[in-house]
Amino acid sequence: CMSSNLVNEPIYSFTPGSKERNEVQEALKIVESKTEDVPIVIGGEELWTNDVHYQVSPYNHKQRIAKFSYASADMINNAIENSISVRAEWDSKPLADRAQILFKAADIFANEKRSEILATTMAGQAKNVVQAEIDAGPELIDFFRFNAQYALDLEHQQPLNPDPNIVNSVKYRGLEGFVAAISPFNFTAIGGNLAGTPALMGNVVLWKPSDTAMLASWLVYKVLRECGLPPGVIQFIPADGSTFGNTITSSEHLAGINFTGSVPTFTKLWQQVGANLTKYKTFPRLAGECGGKNFHFVHSSADVDSVVNGTIRSAFEFGGQKCSACSRAYIPKSLWGKVKQGLVEKHKEIKLGNPDDFSIFLSAVIDKPSYERNKTYLDHAKASSNIEVLAGGNCDDSVGYFVQPTIVECKDPKDKMMQEEIFGPVLSCYVYDDADYKEILKLINSTSSYGLTGSVFSKDESVIEEASSVLRNSAGNFYINDKSTGSVVGQQWFGGSRKSGTNDKPGSPHYVLKWVSPQAVKRSK
Ligand code: GLU
Repeated sequence: CMSSNLVNEPIYSFTPGSKERNEVQEALKIVESKTEDVPIVIGGEELWTNDVHYQVSPYNHKQRIAKFSYASADMINNAIENSISVRAEWDSKPLADRAQILFKAADIFANEKRSEILATTMAGQAKNVVQAEIDAGPELIDFFRFNAQYALDLEHQQPLNPDPNIVNSVKYRGLEGFVAAISPFNFTAIGGNLAGTPALMGNVVLWKPSDTAMLASWLVYKVLRECGLPPGVIQFIPADGSTFGNTITSSEHLAGINFTGSVPTFTKLWQQVGANLTKYKTFPRLAGECGGKNFHFVHSSADVDSVVNGTIRSAFEFGGQKCSACSRAYIPKSLWGKVKQGLVEKHKEIKLGNPDDFSIFLSAVIDKPSYERNKTYLDHAKASSNIEVLAGGNCDDSVGYFVQPTIVECKDPKDKMMQEEIFGPVLSCYVYDDADYKEILKLINSTSSYGLTGSVFSKDESVIEEASSVLRNSAGNFYINDKSTGSVVGQQWFGGSRKSGTNDKPGSPHYVLKWVSPQAVKRSK
């Protein structure tokens, strides 16, 4: 079975009355009705400290769905020692055995645990059922299956053997040391990938899940263990970010960091690694995915309906809390009347609420800091004479962290709304003179430090070519006549450069190579 046979897990539709829908509804009630204890796990042992924290539902901050404690620096050091002690045995196991664990976990999430992982993602990250499904259903399942298959395929990639007296081969070994996986809140699937893929490739991993995705991460971890992941191969370490970062970067055994999160945090980790470089036994591999300021460029030849539908979905699905979400749109004057009308009409149809209502489009943003950040941008928009608020603009955190989906028109293309990542349901539009589109392409390229995703909407081939050329470094995921979000494992390899990260393309066969240190063997007869 080679990777060409890989098929993405189908997406359930959750139609009213369907078995899948009833099961998720039941599972969500259970998650919402209790506070689950989530331990620290080191060497298979469950541990607690007095530094206790809670995960709450973003749409109801009185609802505590998980209780956990932060690991101390000493515990993290113990975890490193324990990992190093099991490393050689794990790395010596045949890849097929390690891959089997991921295949099994994928099957469990595809079947018996699907509603449970969806429910933890809905209650924990405030996703509606379809958004939770896309993430914790197919994306998580596909990451496990595809990476396992990509790894098996990689083993078949062997060097040339032209001389009958010499046998050349390559062994794909794990890195000598440990890999730290630091995962974000916004995708349950990303946590599974960041911790699971290095482990698959023979590495030992210290996984620090996000505080605000604790419950879903814990379920992913438990299932991997149930599927045969030995104790100590992945350590589950809820921790304060700085304590974790300081401790792992101070260890001589650090061999890699697999990170998704903010630019400042990734930058700090690089600096700490740099400062400690002489301590390490190896040069650690740093992989990071850090967000974007993703654009929709609309040309006068574009189809207005696909612009409107694609922009609403890209900007507001998942509350805009996708690294790939569109947050700046450039629209020509000739289309602006229709596009504006379309956006404002569609905006009226957006239903905000709690995930237990299966008809919502949007729920709350993840937490208080996120709410405050969004509010700062909305306040700026409302106060600025250069910005017109076309829809939304308000927020309310009395029960949950609710931010209205908001559309603004900026008169200044360099306003911070057009340049800075907000990571919330806020779309900034800039209207340009049709004839200036080449200038606008240059402006799009130069006004953001990011390079993650972007779209061009046009029916004119020469415009598409021009945009592809000018924006070649602006979007590691470049979409033509499609929205800037929704990359599918194995189909649209994900990641961007500039401040968006190291562009290692999770969801592609190349990603597994990041986590091995191949040994080339030459044997003479
Ligand atoms: N892969 C997702 C998409 O293309 C985004 C993942 C992320 O937010 O990091 O929409």
